[in-house]
Formats: sequence, structure tokens, C-alpha cells
Amino acid sequence: MALLNLGILAHVDAGKTSLTERLLHLAGVRTELGSVDAGSTLTDSMELERQRGITIRSAVASFMIGDTQVNLLDTPGHPDFIAEVERVLGVLDGAVLVVSAVEGVQAQTRILMRALRRLDLPLLLFVNKIDRTGANPERVLRDVMDRLTPDVVPMGYVSQPGGPQARFQPYGPDDEFRTRLVDVLATHDEGIIAAYVADDSALPYALLRKELGKQIARCQVFPVFFGSAITGQGADVLMSAIAELLPGLDGDADGDLSATVFKIDREASGEKVAYVRVFSGTVHVRSRVDFGRGRGGKVTGIVLFTNGATERSATLGPGQIGKLWGLADIRIGDTIGTRNGHGTDQRQFAPPTLETVIVPRVSAAKGTLNAALRLLAEQDPLINLRQDDIRQETYVSLYGEVQKEVIQATLAGDFGVDVDFRETTTICVERPVGTGEAVEVLRVGDNPYLATVGLRVERGPLGSGVTFRLGVELGSMPLAFFRAVEEAVQGTLRQGLHGWEVIDCAVTLHRSGYLARQSHSHGSFDKSMSSTATDFRYLTPLVLMAALRQAGTTVHEPLHWFRLEMPTDLYTSMLQVLTKYGAVPQVPTIGGELSTVEGEIPAASIHALQQQLPSLTRGEGVLESAFERWEQVVGTPPERPRTDINPLERARYLLAMRR
Ligand code: GDP
Repeated sequence: MALLNLGILAHVDAGKTSLTERLLHLAGVRTELGSVDAGSTLTDSMELERQRGITIRSAVASFMIGDTQVNLLDTPGHPDFIAEVERVLGVLDGAVLVVSAVEGVQAQTRILMRALRRLDLPLLLFVNKIDRTGANPERVLRDVMDRLTPDVVPMGYVSQPGGPQARFQPYGPDDEFRTRLVDVLATHDEGIIAAYVADDSALPYALLRKELGKQIARCQVFPVFFGSAITGQGADVLMSAIAELLPGLDGDADGDLSATVFKIDREASGEKVAYVRVFSGTVHVRSRVDFGRGRGGKVTGIVLFTNGATERSATLGPGQIGKLWGLADIRIGDTIGTRNGHGTDQRQFAPPTLETVIVPRVSAAKGTLNAALRLLAEQDPLINLRQDDIRQETYVSLYGEVQKEVIQATLAGDFGVDVDFRETTTICVERPVGTGEAVEVLRVGDNPYLATVGLRVERGPLGSGVTFRLGVELGSMPLAFFRAVEEAVQGTLRQGLHGWEVIDCAVTLHRSGYLARQSHSHGSFDKSMSSTATDFRYLTPLVLMAALRQAGTTVHEPLHWFRLEMPTDLYTSMLQVLTKYGAVPQVPTIGGELSTVEGEIPAASIHALQQQLPSLTRGEGVLESAFERWEQVVGTPPERPRTDINPLERARYLLAMRR
């Protein structure tokens, strides 16, 4: 049996969830067709998802196509929940990217396509909603070729688009399609054209389809299907293509265990459940597994996804997706066993660029709120809780207003805590400018800690985050001390010289030293003469911040890519508005009634522009945007108040962090 872990991805409202329902129905897993509009789908099971008709958390459903088991992962399409998509991408073998036949390629479609291409994931495109008024499959196909990839193979055409009579007519082995297929495939494989010229009957259609599958697996071509999740048109063709054209996996059951955790849930009882994808090896129930940095646990239960349901199992083998119980310390993104080049720890999408303070309406609920937020952060670490010890407040990072409303509703519904938010602000980041070095030596000067730490800070490549390297021998110190330094480095860089997180920063530990464990004559541990991990944890921020001050940092603000559609007669006035908001528009596409313009805009302007848009455009403007890159702030860099004592204020820091 072949296995295929398939993601369904799309811009919100393109019809992902409806298509998932349609496929489950076709596969016979669901006898009744669930509907987004009636709130009865299998994958949008959260109350909030049903109320809002959007997917917030990824969900798994499995079904068989012939002898291929497909684990289908429905992912959120709204840009505020992109972090959830990011976690799922790393566990997929292939994907279906859904595009609406009415709206065409949208902001999120481009972002998803870019991420899929970076990961080299084979994919099929499905142009949905061919039955909807305004559907224009041909225009959308051109749009796909212009804005996503020119390497497409349309697998059929649509007759009578834009109404309930719309039909998807798949191409068959007739000459015209065969010739076109040969043309496309030959671009990537000259053997094809040679064989075709020599003897065209030597290339039967079945062989061409096989070659098509190979080129899809290598991400050289992208087949485009058309249809409607609502009328069911084209869904059966897509369904067989999934099994035929996407590469299933037969993993190595005996190899070293390598699995990735892509989702964390809690049972009603509070017990943690980890959703994992196994790449190689096998997880056995009651076996001990390691998930890095000395953490591990015993698996007490395994559940597999099978034919629309779940089923207990004693093992979880290669290629499979399942849920594991018993691993209390496990976190999202963990690798179980060894990575072995599987999965990805590279961030595919942008981090959240907004943050706000979250405040309980009743101050007595502070404790419940903190506990609830810790649970939410377990499911979504990117909300990045920041505890302000000085002002006794909690910050959460956000992608947007919808996510904020969802957090508010979840806290009220699941935890009974009513909260408000302070004003939302934009998050900036800092990058080192040059190189800086600092060192504190044990028992030298006023270093009160029993540790020597020397650190060098330099600028790392774009997108590299924080990297930590050893410039000293690994055997020169107990491992726990190295770990303490590395953890303190990561923690300290959450607030740089201007209070923002420091990214693209390479830190090297170039000097270290400690006092070996001393004991009293009666045998107990003498802390006053022996180094502890805490010595390293407290000393590292002092050294690191001194090195960072020497290196210097620049502050960068988030820029979004935007696409604005508006009535053509308002184009000139909207251009002025965009400029006022700091946007840099590109050449517009002027249409008859509607025109569009794309470009870059500071993230800080988006909310205000979004709010003004209805009155500026007679309610017809549509603005989409998504993070594009960090741009250095010109002029005085914005400062963010620190939430702890600045290690650069040495006396205060030492007083607070007494050994
Ligand atoms: P998602 O946000 O991508 O998961 O999209 P949904 O599946 O929630 O669909 C968004 C809206 O579009 C819902 O109102 C669906 O009923 C509607 N819809 C989805 N697919 C189709 C389709 O093929 N044709 C038509 N006419 N409507 C569709």
C-alpha cells in the first residue's frame, strides 16, 4: 500500500474545506456531504471554525484511492493563521493548491506557491468554483502562468463556465493533447522528443502519463485541473490524479527513527497529544523516544488515521501520520529520533509583525489567563508570549485582527476568561551591524559568577535567525554549562540594544571556564566553590549584551506586499493615498471598471488603510497584503521598552541576579 500525505492549500474562501469534503464524500468516507455554509464539515471541527466558516487549525482526514492511502491535511487559508500552515508543510509529500475561478491568483496563493517551491513539493493546481457567476477559467489559467509558474499543463477545459451547467472536460489521449504533452515534457527531457521523432507510436499515452508523474515529482511541471467543490465537477478527475500523479511513499521501516511533530492538542483531561509524521523507522507503543536536548518520554498510546476515522495501533511506521500520547514535554516542531535530513526547520513564512498587551477584564483572572495563554502558546508557539516582569503584563505576537478576535473568543469560550487588548503595535527587529566581542573571566574583576564566558557576535546571513557556534572544545566543559550558555544567548537576543528581537545573528562562544565540582569533607556539594549552570545563565547576558553593543545594531520594520483592487476612476486619488501611507506602488493594471495595483507598504500602515478603504473606494476596494521583508528604519530607530533589567546596566543587573 502506498501512502501519500497531502496538503490542501489556498487563499481563504477559494474552497479548500469544501473541496476536502467533496473528496471525502467521493472516497466514501463521508456518506453525507458536509457544508461550510451549514457548519457541518469534518475538518473544521472547532466551534469557532464553524461559526466563522474559516479553518483555524489544521486537521487530518484519511481515505483510500485504489490502494493508496491518502492522509489529507486541511490547512488554514487566512493569512493570520499562516504559522499553522508552516508547520504542516514540513510533513507533506505533495499538495493541491486551490485557486478560485472567479478571484484568480490572490496574495496568499502566491505566498503558498513560493513556500511550496522552496520546499520542492510536488503539486497539482485545482481551479475551483467554475460554476460561480463571474468564473473565467481561461483568464485564471493565464493568471496562474503569469503569476505562479509558466510550467503548467492544463489537464482539460471548462464548458459553459459561470453557471450550474459548467462542466470540466478532461483531455484524453487524442492527438492534440498528446502532442502538447510531448512538447511540455520534452522541455525537461530531451529523450522524449527523440523517441517521438523516431517513432511516435513508441510513446503510448500511458507512458507519457508516467513521465508526467515523474516530472511532477521533480517539480518541473504543474498540472492544472478545473472543477467545482459544490457541484462536484472535476472532483473525480482530481481524485484519480492525486493517486496517479503524486508520488506516494514507501519509507524505510527498519531505518533510524525520524519523525516530526506538527501539531499539539490537549485532551479534555489535560493530557497532551502530539501529531507526528514518521519519515523513517517505527514508533512502538510503550517504547521510549527522544526528542532532543535531553528530553524524551515513553509513548503510552498511538492512534492512526484510517478511512475518515481513527484507530488505535501498536506502531506508527514510515510515511504514516498519527497521534501519540504520553509525551508530556514534547513541543511543536520537535524531531523525534534523528532528523536525517527529513522535515524542515527553516521558516517558510514570515513571523508575526504585530503585538499587543492582553489584559483580563477582571484582575482576579490573571492566574487563569496566564495558564490559558501557556496552553495556547503550546499549540501556537509563534504567539510568542512576552512576560513584562517590570510592568506585570503579558504581550502576545499576532499576524492580524482576525487572529486577535479568535484568541479572545477562545479564551472566553474554552477558559472562561474575558480579555481586552491594548493598542496593537508593529514589531521591529534588530540586526547586528559589525562584529563585537566581550569576555568575563572567573574570579577576575567584579565578575561574581563562577564562570568564564567569552562571546563574539557578528551578522549572519539573511533569514538565518540566531545561530550559536562553539569556538572551544566540546569536551572542555560539562555539557549542561554549554547548554546554559546557548539557552541564555537565545533568551537574551529576544531584546537587543533597542528592545527588539535580534535576528540574523551569529554568536560564537570563544572562551569558557568553570570550577569543577568540590565537596565538603562530609561529602555534600560545595556551591561556593563549584560552578553551576546558573552561573553561566546569569553571566552570559552580561557578556552578550556587551559584545552586541560593540557590534551595534540597526532596527528594521516589516514591509508587506499589497494588492489593491479599486474602481478605475479612483485610481489617481488612491495613488495619492497610498503614497501618504508610505507605499511604493508598481505599474498598475488598468482595467475597464476595476484596476489593480501591487507594491510594498509598511506593515504599520495597513490597518489604517484597511479601515479607510470602504469610504475611499465607495465600498469597492479590496486590499490584500502579506509580509514581504524587513526594511531598515531611516532616522531615529523606534525603541521598545525592555521587560527585564538591561544587562548593560551592570550594577542593577548584578544586584537583581545575585548568585
Ligand atoms: P476555504 O476558506 O478555502 O476553506 O473555502 P470554503 O470551502 O470555506 O468555501 C468558501 C465559500 O465558497 C463557501 O461559501 C462555499 O460554499 C463556497 N464555495 C466553495 N467551493 C465552491 C464552488 O466550487 N462553487 C461555488 N459556487 N461556491 C463554492
